[in-house]
Amino acid sequence: MTFTSAVELPGYLPVYSGKVRDLYAPLDGTGRPVEHQLMLVASDRISAYDHVLDTPIPDKGVVLTRLSLWWFDQLRDLVPNHVVSTDVPTSVAGRAVIVHRLDMLKVEAIARAYLAGSGLEEYRQSGSVCGVELPPGLQDGSRLPEPIFTPTTKAPLGEHDLPMSAAEVGAALGPQQAEEVSHLTRAILRRGNEIAADRGILIADTKVEFGRAPDGSGGLVLADEVLTPDSSRFWPADQWQPGRAQASYDKQYVRDWLTSPESGWSRASGEAPPPLPPRVVEQTRAKYVEAYERLTGERF
Ligand code: ATP
Ligand code: MG
Repeated sequence: MTFTSAVELPGYLPVYSGKVRDLYAPLDGTGRPVEHQLMLVASDRISAYDHVLDTPIPDKGVVLTRLSLWWFDQLRDLVPNHVVSTDVPTSVAGRAVIVHRLDMLKVEAIARAYLAGSGLEEYRQSGSVCGVELPPGLQDGSRLPEPIFTPTTKAPLGEHDLPMSAAEVGAALGPQQAEEVSHLTRAILRRGNEIAADRGILIADTKVEFGRAPDGSGGLVLADEVLTPDSSRFWPADQWQPGRAQASYDKQYVRDWLTSPESGWSRASGEAPPPLPPRVVEQTRAKYVEAYERLTGERF
């Protein structure tokens, strides 16, 4: 655990810093940390290829927080979520939420509706993704016959998540919960695409995280963030054309710059990526804001 980037907030105790979010335990009247809640603060940090970049993207944390809150509402009838309130200190207003503190499942729940990224790589090697057989002849960006569940491990900070088969998820969670996670993850992506379609966006794939109440009561709860440009691939529908890389509203733009000759960085080197140029920062911010505005129909 690292606490390096967490800011001091009176009344809150820093407990964990992820790649993007800082987690705090609210303190009660006697100064003791409350056990059943957390405050999640989304920073402007951006990660790519398992590195946290040195350059923040202004407003990114607010975009992710507001978009997740909006989606939690759209998904309310499918799955309960972890949100308690947005009653947070002024210094983090807009980028923080108070949530139920959950025991998180040790699985990154990923669903794919279109083929791209690591799913495409795996398909090209084996014709399947995480053990799910796919029809032959699919291309970069092809739409899948129906959304598939392609979970990975939740690797510790700095390590790569690895694909998990259905059997591995079953062994980790038990068969019933594994089936529920698979079903819910695909249902979230399906609902997301139904809503996004009206707004000209395709959601190619997405990652969600589920938790359960620590006392074991109740079922799965959707936690962390949902259907954001950090956790999903968003493609403008009118430019979608299988057989090539797709235009996108997510951090693919940053990944592409990092792997371009201009950055001078090699993914295989294991070294920290270079700072992003102002143009890349500005374009990335604009993409995140546009995704928010198109999906929610609200001005940022
Ligand atoms: P990535 O999202 O790429 O996997 P990360 O795990 O470092 O990286 P962050 O979003 O920076 O992610 O950190 C958020 C952390 O908070 C994650 O470890 C997530 O599992 C955890 N988390 C989210 N919601 C809850 C919750 N309601 N209760 C407990 N932990 C939570
Ligand atoms: Mg996360």
